[in-house]
Amino acid sequence: MSTLPQSSSTAIDHEQAAADYAALLDRSLSLNLTRGKPDPRQLDLAGALLSCDLSDHKAADGTDCRNYGGLQGLPELREIFSGPLQVPADQLVAMDNSSLALMHDTIVHALLSVLPGAEQRWSDEPDVAFLCPVPGYDRHFALCERFGIEMIPVPMTAEGPDMDVVAELAGGDPRIKGIWCVPKYSNPSGVTFSEATVRRLAEMETAAPDFRIFWDNAYAMHHLTDEEVEVADLLTACADASHPDRAFVFGSTSKITFAGAGVAFFGSSPANVEWFLKHAAKRTIGPDKLNQLRHVRVLKDTDGVRAHMARHRELLRPKFDLVERILQRELGGTDLATWSRPEGGYFVTLDVRDGRAREVVRLAGEAGVALTPAGASHPYGRDPQDSTIRIAPSFPGLEELEEAIVALAVCVRLACSEQ
Ligand code: PMP
Repeated sequence: MSTLPQSSSTAIDHEQAAADYAALLDRSLSLNLTRGKPDPRQLDLAGALLSCDLSDHKAADGTDCRNYGGLQGLPELREIFSGPLQVPADQLVAMDNSSLALMHDTIVHALLSVLPGAEQRWSDEPDVAFLCPVPGYDRHFALCERFGIEMIPVPMTAEGPDMDVVAELAGGDPRIKGIWCVPKYSNPSGVTFSEATVRRLAEMETAAPDFRIFWDNAYAMHHLTDEEVEVADLLTACADASHPDRAFVFGSTSKITFAGAGVAFFGSSPANVEWFLKHAAKRTIGPDKLNQLRHVRVLKDTDGVRAHMARHRELLRPKFDLVERILQRELGGTDLATWSRPEGGYFVTLDVRDGRAREVVRLAGEAGVALTPAGASHPYGRDPQDSTIRIAPSFPGLEELEEAIVALAVCVRLACSEQ
């Protein structure tokens, strides 16, 4: 994201901003732009999951989905998501309702059990660190904090993480065991990694022999435009670069079907999948195959998912257009803020003047507009520039969203004219 000039050429009328803010307080708003949740109409799109006939309860190979077993998940479901997640179906694992849970478990397994290519368990290392492209996803950072994994921020560019920085750090420091990546329509910047970035991630030399890329492809099919942006195939790139075990791929249907009642995926090299399943088998006898069967019957095939995502887009696109229109109208042509214009995913990043993000969020909160805490998109909640604010426009209706963004712009004007 661009850094904004710190000396304003725009005359901001502080008194006008204060008056607008006072008017805002009088309205006692109660609006929420904090989390990237689908709105109920999006959830309705997958309503057939609730009425799907499962009375025969049989998977394609005759498996009785009501019973235990089938740890890797239904093959026909893995087929559907193999292409979108760029993982061969036999190297894909379909599990329960949350990819975040799979990321959590993968880290726990790596702490407790030696990874393919590792010399020892991560918990036996004196220190473990992860590279964290910023701005990034707060729940990834929360996992690192939970497990005492040091986080090293790396700046994002328009092509993904700054690969000069990544290659130098990962190449020189054996404590660095991983990097968080949201490769497509990233949370929260909207950036999609370029082919060169993917190639360098796959090819770079790392000081840790068991370095892993946590490739959280949460928005693989979540396009907002006609162009279905593609990201290069990391798993194949890693295999071609003689680092076949480097990539851990994650994804889910949380923002395709039901957030909280979908299906999540883990994909990797054959050795990693074997390692993962061996340890997953201690935790569960098998996933909820009835939910998986329901997903197969409703989504049918990869084209079925694509068509379904086009309907999500019809609901989401007007919201992102609205955010763009209002920010442009209220803040365009000033040097108070810049913002992203994502082509997919769930977020807009608003960058305000350095040192002002916390104040904007505080003012908005007092006016009844809840925003994700400033700093949440950085490790330890510390945004050294104090400039990044994440906007999640998916949940509110259009009217509420308009009110919230207009109010947010008032807060930006006031916070920046206070300086
Ligand atoms: N990864 C990213 C990048 C996300 O934005 C989200 C949801 N906000 C998740 C993972 C959570 O996914 P799940 O519901 O599959 O746990």
